[in-house]
Amino acid sequence: MLEPDREITCIDCGGRSFLLTPPREDRMWLVGDIVAYRCQDCLDRWDLVLEDDETAGDVPDA
Ligand SMILES: [Zn+2]
Repeated sequence: MLEPDREITCIDCGGRSFLLTPPREDRMWLVGDIVAYRCQDCLDRWDLVLEDDETAGDVPDA
């Protein structure tokens, strides 16, 4: 199932950036969704477009 990372590495400072965008009520994520992250170190906001990352490897999600 497509799901954004809860946490990414800040492109500017290398700090931890956490997902701001809540999932839909049905917890579905779609390719092309915009997800926002906020860096806890420099407070920059990052907007990413969800992509189909089948090639990135599946993490089991019970
Ligand atoms: Zn940062």
